[in-house]
Amino acid sequence: MSECLFCMIDKGDLPAEKVYDDGRVFAIKDINPQAPVHFLVIPKKHFSTILEIEKDDHELIGSIYSVANELAKKNGLDKAGFRVVVNCGVEAGQSVFHIHYHLLGGRSLKWPPG
Ligand code: AMP
Ligand code: ZN
Repeated sequence: MSECLFCMIDKGDLPAEKVYDDGRVFAIKDINPQAPVHFLVIPKKHFSTILEIEKDDHELIGSIYSVANELAKKNGLDKAGFRVVVNCGVEAGQSVFHIHYHLLGGRSLKWPPG
């Protein structure tokens, strides 16, 4: 998957501001932040969309929430609140087809999203 943006970032072939890496999951600062804190938490395993997640992946995908929690706490979002969101497919606005969990916080977030 060398043509995949997030696989390339993980391999170091494209620059990004990494804020976390445990060998299975990494997180970067979003290049176009939509909130004062906007990270992308990304499994290194390439899944184009969440539809490709299978039972064997549940532990890996579950660990993404531990990473999101850790980053939220580290960045002082846990008291006021924050959002973890994943877009699936074109109508949901997915633009990079390697799954990633947006961690957004640091301002009041509206609901429902557009
Ligand atoms: P989505 O639209 O849900 O697929 O989210 C893709 C996200 O990736 C967007 O929020 C983009 O701003 C972000 N993004 C795209 N290219 C980069 C990059 N090179 N480094 C960091 N974030 C990126
Ligand atoms: Zn990929």
